[in-house]
Amino acid sequence: MEYKIGVIAGDGIGPEIVAEARKVLDRVGSVYGHTFCYEEIQMGGCSIDATGVPLTDDAIAAAKASDAVLMGSIGGNTATSPWYQLPPDRRPEAGLLRLRKELNLFANLRPAYLYDELRAACPLRDEIIGDGFDMMIMRELTGGLYFGERKTENQNGVLTATDTLTYSETEIRRIAKRGFDIARKRRKKVTSVDKANVLDSSRLWRKIVEEVAADYPDVAYEHMLVDNCAMQLVKDPKQFDVILTENMFGDILSDEASMVTGSIGMLASASLNDTKFGLYEPSGGSAPDIAGKGIANPIATVLSAAMLLRYSLDLDAEADAVEAAVKQVLKEGFRTIDIMPQENAMGESGQAEVTQVGTAQMGDLICGHIGV
Ligand code: NAD
Repeated sequence: MEYKIGVIAGDGIGPEIVAEARKVLDRVGSVYGHTFCYEEIQMGGCSIDATGVPLTDDAIAAAKASDAVLMGSIGGNTATSPWYQLPPDRRPEAGLLRLRKELNLFANLRPAYLYDELRAACPLRDEIIGDGFDMMIMRELTGGLYFGERKTENQNGVLTATDTLTYSETEIRRIAKRGFDIARKRRKKVTSVDKANVLDSSRLWRKIVEEVAADYPDVAYEHMLVDNCAMQLVKDPKQFDVILTENMFGDILSDEASMVTGSIGMLASASLNDTKFGLYEPSGGSAPDIAGKGIANPIATVLSAAMLLRYSLDLDAEADAVEAAVKQVLKEGFRTIDIMPQENAMGESGQAEVTQVGTAQMGDLICGHIGV
């Protein structure tokens, strides 16, 4: 099959890490008989430099014409880059916000997976980690508190701020369906997180999730209050498969979940709409402090490409192969600098000595384990 992939390399380490993900996709293509045609799309600081705006209409059209978009990261050093002297709606991040809106990317997925080889980076105790955890945070991205009406006004001499939290049943149903669909591709369990003991929006959330769950008898589901979920994530993360939640709860819980996995350079993400289309990007930023040095960790971007294969192209075997290749490379002891252990040996866990590699070498090593 031939697939059209929009590629937003972006700024900072973006071009370096995206180059490795493309390398991996090309390897998948040659092993499994697919052709990936790349359309380069400018967004962020590089687009400001070239066109004066962080995202052009042409760039949006190119993204819409793709089967999926693979992105690196955008933005620069917020203290020193001239991009941040511009008004907020002309800065690099405004491009990403507009793209998400134009593409109606309402479902954000962030896997939190603990690699056995990196368990030393996990801040949880060994008995809590057990044999590891593997969960997916599914966050509603275009509704709720962050998109409601807000105002600050003077009420009888007292400054008073109001934010509104609104969810329609349509918004809840579409994200819930996505969550159950994703669970079907995993261990078939959904934990729907809300604050139904207090909030009307959460009570509606719960009702609609129950209606959707009835269409997925093969997927187990439970409801959990958000405060309890925040506790359970550090008390017993193994219990979770898919965590389905609204925008603000997901914002907070996904950061908590990613923190317990270790390095930012390992964390993939996907933002989906109601078609197969998605935007796939690492969770980290453009890391201007290490850009151009060839030392950035490309694994989060490679794993984002694996998500692209799985969720936009339905190429599950190919996605499995990429994820297995990443695991194998870690098992063999290869690390970029951000995931190097403090000492050059992991004697305690009986693992092999580790070897530090650069961005391109890590990409080559991953490719070397696909299709062998
Ligand atoms: P950052 O994630 O870029 O960097 C934080 C730290 O993590 C740095 O020390 C960096 O070197 C390290 N790091 C990040 N990714 C890494 C990788 N792949 N390999 C090794 N180390 C890695 O966060 P920041 O410094 O707060 O932000 C820098 C710029 O990125 C800002 O302009 C910010 O707005 C932007 N940003 C963009 C996105 C995006 O494109 N979606 C997301 C977050 C931040």
